[in-house]
Amino acid sequence: PPDVEVLGKSSWTLLHSIAATYPENPTSKEQQDLKQFVTLFGNFYPCWFCKADFVKYIEKNDPQVNSQDKFGKWLCEAHNEVNVKLGKPKFDCNLWKQRWKDGWDN
Ligand code: FAD
Repeated sequence: PPDVEVLGKSSWTLLHSIAATYPENPTSKEQQDLKQFVTLFGNFYPCWFCKADFVKYIEKNDPQVNSQDKFGKWLCEAHNEVNVKLGKPKFDCNLWKQRWKDGWDN
């Protein structure tokens, strides 16, 4: 259904934008908070079949929150997991910052 797509695109925009503004050298409090945010985001994600896989992914792949670049790449890989599941092309994770921080083209 289109709602899952609109929700997905909006959610990825929010998540990658958070990565783009996350500190390059986060404090331990910021790291703890981001990990908690990502976990809770997954727990409350309003698409049950999306949520099930995302929660499993987080359990297997601990969110990397010790720098902006680590988190940006971790998130990119999580997004790629969904891309593969949906038969979409993988995104080159070396380009995550160009896409979400330096340039804001759609
Ligand atoms: P999107 O995948 O929404 O991507 C938006 C933009 O992000 C792209 O145009 C591209 O510029 C950029 N981008 C693409 N890949 C990456 C990447 N790896 N890293 C950084 N930037 C990237 N849909 C389902 O049908 N089934 C699911 O199980 C499912 N699970 C989801 C789980 C989560 C946590 C989220 C947030 C979404 C999920 N979705 C799921 C939605 C799905 O991922 C897409 O958002 C939706 O299909 C719309 O796709 P889109 O082509 O508009 O681009």
